Amino acid sequence: MKIINKILDGKAVSQQIKAEITEIVSKLSSPPKLSVILVGNNFASSVYVKNKSQACIVCGIQSEVITLDENISEAELLKKIHELNQDNHTHGILVQLPLPKQIREDRIIENIDPRKDVDGFHPLNVGHLFLKKAMLEPCTPVGVIEILKRYALPIAGKHVVIIGRSNIVGKPLGIMFLRENATVTYCHSKTRDLPSVAQTADILIAAIGKAQFVTDEFVKTNAVIIDVGINRLPNGKLAGDVDFEKVSPKVSAITPVPGGVGPMTIAILLKNTLKAYQNIMHKK
Ligand code: NAD
Repeated sequence: MKIINKILDGKAVSQQIKAEITEIVSKLSSPPKLSVILVGNNFASSVYVKNKSQACIVCGIQSEVITLDENISEAELLKKIHELNQDNHTHGILVQLPLPKQIREDRIIENIDPRKDVDGFHPLNVGHLFLKKAMLEPCTPVGVIEILKRYALPIAGKHVVIIGRSNIVGKPLGIMFLRENATVTYCHSKTRDLPSVAQTADILIAAIGKAQFVTDEFVKTNAVIIDVGINRLPNGKLAGDVDFEKVSPKVSAITPVPGGVGPMTIAILLKNTLKAYQNIMHKK
């Protein structure tokens, strides 16, 4: 994709990916199916689940949302997961996080069939990611690499600074950048003099969860900025972890929020569902 301006348009790229998926799915003998488990009635989670399910339908992927009571026990949730693991018509299983306090998230993730683990959180997939490449890898980090590649922005040899070391974004993303031959620096809440470290980045990733935290003093002129954050401002609007107004004049490329990494994450989830389907059907 040719860069027309410095905005990395995740919505447009995700539409391109979805069109590619739709084309492949239309030629399959039976549709792939994603089953999403939503426990309780966390508002943000139900919005995410609705968006994922609508995106499936657009691409011809079947989607089932299983809504379970907030007070469900861990054993009951595990039973549901084992049923889905056994179900030949379900190719992808996603348990929307966070889960209520009585349920151990790691226990749940460990019990999802790794072949159906479209979030890429199962320890087997995480292990493969670290060793070489996993069949299913976490959607947001893959989405970040994919948007850079689709805009033909070089990664090899670049210094990538990642602010945030969560298991679902920062940590796996660093491994993926290493695989792409970047030099990677991880930063987190205990990093000293964060703005100075961030300023050394050719590619700066903000995955913190603090609205407009990254200001112009964090960025080098002409750096590439990827804003993973999704935060709700007091006025109800969405904002990223980057102060877009202050930072965008200084950089060569930047993802907006909304319309940047968010839609990429969903597109990669669909891609993972298709991959899981192809892998399961191939081995039948
Ligand atoms: P998390 O809370 O698990 O991790 C946040 C990380 O930021 C931690 O590693 C922490 O050390 C670091 N951090 C916190 N305060 C800091 C500070 N003052 N200075 C430096 N580092 C600091 O969050 P997460 O799950 O990785 O999510 C991060 C953000 O990305 C959130 O806004 C979340 O909503 C968003 N997110 C977006 C998508 C998407 O599809 N776009 C997907 C997942 C998460």
